[in-house]
Amino acid sequence: MTVVKDTGERATMPPFTDEHHQLRETINRWVREEIVPHVDEWEAAGEFPLELYRRAGELGFLGLKYPTELGGQGGDYVHDAVWAEELAAAGASGGVGAGLGAHTGIATPPVFRFGTPEQHERFLRPAIRGERIAALGITEPGAGSDVASIRTHARPVDGGYVVNGSKTFITNGVRADFLVCAVKTTEEGGHGGISFLILERQMPGYEVVTRLEKMGWRSSDTAELSFTDVEVPAENLLGDENRGFGLIMENFAWERLLMSLGAVGAMRRLLATAIEYAGEREAFGRPIAKFQAIRHKIAEIGVKAEVGRALTYSALRRYVAGEDVIDDVTRAKLFTQRACVEVADECVQILGGYGYMREYGVERALRDARLGPIGGGTDEIMREILGRRLGL
Ligand SMILES: Cc1cc2nc3c(=O)[nH]c(=O)nc-3n(C[C@H](O)[C@H](O)[C@H](O)COP(=O)(O)OP(=O)(O)OC[C@H]3O[C@@H](n4cnc5c(N)ncnc54)[C@H](O)[C@@H]3O)c2cc1C
Repeated sequence: MTVVKDTGERATMPPFTDEHHQLRETINRWVREEIVPHVDEWEAAGEFPLELYRRAGELGFLGLKYPTELGGQGGDYVHDAVWAEELAAAGASGGVGAGLGAHTGIATPPVFRFGTPEQHERFLRPAIRGERIAALGITEPGAGSDVASIRTHARPVDGGYVVNGSKTFITNGVRADFLVCAVKTTEEGGHGGISFLILERQMPGYEVVTRLEKMGWRSSDTAELSFTDVEVPAENLLGDENRGFGLIMENFAWERLLMSLGAVGAMRRLLATAIEYAGEREAFGRPIAKFQAIRHKIAEIGVKAEVGRALTYSALRRYVAGEDVIDDVTRAKLFTQRACVEVADECVQILGGYGYMREYGVERALRDARLGPIGGGTDEIMREILGRRLGL
């Protein structure tokens, strides 16, 4: 009998083309050669080196979807999707994926979409080169899921704004050169009173309060930030005043899709690890894969990985076609993040004591995956969205 180990290799299918497939291989090789050998060291240090942004910029990975006129590669969102999936599939830790992903996937897209030509030059072009690091600041100590209740306030003054408030859980927050930051621009705030300002680290009153300690994603920096009378010039307003809530919602769709792609990549990797380990490890005189209990676990992992992939690719196809993807993206995010936690947990079980050790990276995969049902909108919020979309 021929044994086919289905760990995710596929003939190219829409929305991917052969060119995307080649990019997949290039990114996968780069991650295996230049990231994986250092991941443990970076996890222990609590951050990966800043040089990695430069290197990724030099190779074109930070500007895949941006036009060549701005220093990008002239690709599309599918190129960025490949980037998100392969970082995880090839074994970059969740922290590396998060640090690079927050820069390319959530903080620079609004600058591209809503920024002026002058903002593109000041912020996007150096970000694509990996020279200026970007972060997105929405969450506050008192406002996470309830985005509309943010309290950071920008008071209009002659020539700009004065910002007071704080943000927390900000990925890249410690090292970001600029922060794409949600602020209230009316007293009441809420859906019609939120705007985006680009805050720069060197602005007086902008302070990194704490580098936060986390369960997973350990090689990414996560910060609490505070702003005391930060003077922000009017040219740092991103998009229209008081239209920021729409920007947040638009950004969420891509962020949730990227998180789904990351989980798809991680599940692919975990499936491969489980198959390989179970085929080699022996107990009671046979490979543990020959025990039905283990074989069935791996079969279930394969199903979860494939369902996650199908939901995510379907949402991606519709996203790039410009369709309304709220349902598709929400379903993909909800399913893949929880599935990835379950898959990582089962994988630890299959590897037994070795699963609990650092060596195989599955304990880290479990810790990293646990962020998925929380970040970018929690499972409960995803269910709320889907329930309401069903008219309930
Ligand atoms: C490692 C990490 C990195 C992050 N990076 C960023 C970043 O770069 N930028 C950024 O802006 N944010 C970032 N976040 C914040 C993240 O998006 C929020 O943590 C998330 O949106 C949840 O908000 P919260 O933590 O305040 O939880 P809360 O909103 O306080 O929720 C607490 C619990 O209550 C539940 N709950 C809340 N409302 C409802 C409801 N209506 N119905 C049912 N249950 C509900 C939640 O589901 C959750 O279980 C990051 C978070 C982490 C942990």
